[in-house]
Amino acid sequence: MFVHLDNVKKSYETGEVSTTVLKGVGMELDKGEVGVILGPSGSGKSTLLNILGGIDRANSGKVTVGGIDVTGLDDNQLVEYRREHVGFIFQFYNLIPNLTVGENVEIVSNISKSPLEIDKVLKAVGMLDKKSRFPRELSGGEQQRVSIARAVVKNPNLLLCDEPTGALDFNTSRDILKLLQQINKDYGTTILMITHNTAISAMANRVYKVRSGEVIEKNVNETVVPAERIEW
Ligand code: ADP
Ligand code: MG
Repeated sequence: MFVHLDNVKKSYETGEVSTTVLKGVGMELDKGEVGVILGPSGSGKSTLLNILGGIDRANSGKVTVGGIDVTGLDDNQLVEYRREHVGFIFQFYNLIPNLTVGENVEIVSNISKSPLEIDKVLKAVGMLDKKSRFPRELSGGEQQRVSIARAVVKNPNLLLCDEPTGALDFNTSRDILKLLQQINKDYGTTILMITHNTAISAMANRVYKVRSGEVIEKNVNETVVPAERIEW
């Protein structure tokens, strides 16, 4: 398995209070697959994604991505792992406001060892003609396109999307999902996506339902539905 989580546990200590957020999560994703994580607010989804992407650390258990034992990396190696192998997309885009579209993508391209061509990626997300615009001059959907370009330009093995359509209307959400599906196809990027919307699970190869830090249901879809045909 390309992505493998085994018995991952995580708790946060705040003062004398310890909150257990992940209670032994297991998850698997093959190379080139799309995975969807469903679950209510506070169930540990973002924590899980952050651990997988090397932003946070598990307390115990094992995480491997493309043969890399992520849980065994020291702090410097974790930064390197995150930089070279993982792309992140968030609900609120997180673009750098005082940089143009092109600069937002270029800055990430510069830190990668095997970046894709900036203009090609901007073209792929439909934003090449807005390369010199600033984020504030763009709609939400356009900003999310740029954030997808920024994540993809480093040519990541794994694309982690934390509620990528959470702030977007229905039509724009569908366009963004179509784009993610296209990227999965064209670049072979393995994608793991968090969503509240159960309908979106139709476009996934594997679906994980999470409640209170535990996987309560795993499903493998035999057929993957094109994003434009998802029934909401
Ligand atoms: P979800 O993404 O499913 O909404 P999260 O992973 O963001 O859930 O959070 C799960 C739980 O962990 C929540 O109760 C949240 O308050 C807690 N939590 C998340 N991050 C931290 C942190 N850095 N410190 C303390 N508690 C945290
Ligand atoms: Mg979250």
